[in-house]
Amino acid sequence: MKARVAVLAGDGIGPEVAAEGVRCLQAVAALCGHEIELTPLPFGGAAIDAAGDPLPDATLAACRTADAVLLGAIGGPKWSAPEARVRPEAGLLRLRRELGTFANLRPVAVHAALADASTLKAEVVRGVDLVFVRELTGGIYFGEKHRDATRASDVCSYSAAEIERIVRLAAQLAQARRGHLTSIDKSNVLETSRLWREVTTRVVQQEFPHLTLEHMLVDAAAMHLMRRPRDFDVLVTENMFGDILTDEASMLAGSLGLLPSASLGGSGPGLYEPIHGSAPDIAGRGIANPCGMILSVALLLRHSLRLPAEAAALERAVSSALGAGAHTADLAGLPGASLSTRAMADAVLSSLRRP
Ligand code: NAD
Repeated sequence: MKARVAVLAGDGIGPEVAAEGVRCLQAVAALCGHEIELTPLPFGGAAIDAAGDPLPDATLAACRTADAVLLGAIGGPKWSAPEARVRPEAGLLRLRRELGTFANLRPVAVHAALADASTLKAEVVRGVDLVFVRELTGGIYFGEKHRDATRASDVCSYSAAEIERIVRLAAQLAQARRGHLTSIDKSNVLETSRLWREVTTRVVQQEFPHLTLEHMLVDAAAMHLMRRPRDFDVLVTENMFGDILTDEASMLAGSLGLLPSASLGGSGPGLYEPIHGSAPDIAGRGIANPCGMILSVALLLRHSLRLPAEAAALERAVSSALGAGAHTADLAGLPGASLSTRAMADAVLSSLRRP
């Protein structure tokens, strides 16, 4: 197959991990006979420096016509001064909005060899394999805002249609996995959550009758994620609850550097990025963990290029490299945890087998 992927390397460790993600994508393409054209584009702080805009028109236009967008990370102290007129983060929010990616998928899987890297007990995290589906373009982050000298408010609003589409996407995912969907809300207090629960129940009963649907209050979900994370399969929730819970869940895996994400749902391309930021504290040293980026490439292969076997082959390669003891410094406490970004990607590439 032929495809075009826009590559927005961004700032800090963004370009360092993006280079390894691209190398893995090219290796999979060469192994399986696909033609993937890569288009590097300025984005984030680097684009502010070059063009005064974190999302230049030409970058956005090229993203819109690509089959998928691969993103490193953006931001850093250089562009974070309180008086800054334009910030890299504004480019990322605008890109997500322009592409209409309303669903953010964050898989969290704990590799057997890394159970000891988590701050939780190994017997709690061993075998965890869950996916969060967070609503990304609605709710309190996008509602009407008001502020005067002594009062402030942020409106949280959801339509039935916005809930239906994200629940449908999460249910389809659950159907392809272990068939268990947990919907998280605060329906004992919030009207939006009561609508969320009502719509979720209807969509699942009518369209996915074979799924097991469980409703959970957000406060209980925060607790159960730490107590019995293995019991979860697919979790679906609104924007702000998802923002908070996905960061909590990422700690199950042991390092931010391990986890990928996909933002999907628009009529255009999906957006794939590791969940970490630009890590200015380690940028330029070549020690960042590239696994979150490489696993984001696997999600890109699966969801945008419809190449599930190739995606699984890359995921297996990451898994066997980690299992064979290839570790970067962030997986502290593990013996031999000292590979460079490039050496870690080399270990993944040497484990890559044709599907
Ligand atoms: P961060 O994720 O960049 O870093 C948090 C900690 O995790 C740091 O100690 C860092 O060294 C470590 N870390 C992160 N990724 C790693 C990797 N791949 N390998 C090894 N260690 C890794 O979060 P932060 O420090 O709060 O933010 C830094 C900048 O990144 C800020 O400007 C922030 O706005 C931006 N940011 C961007 C995104 C994005 O591009 N989507 C997401 C989050 C933060």
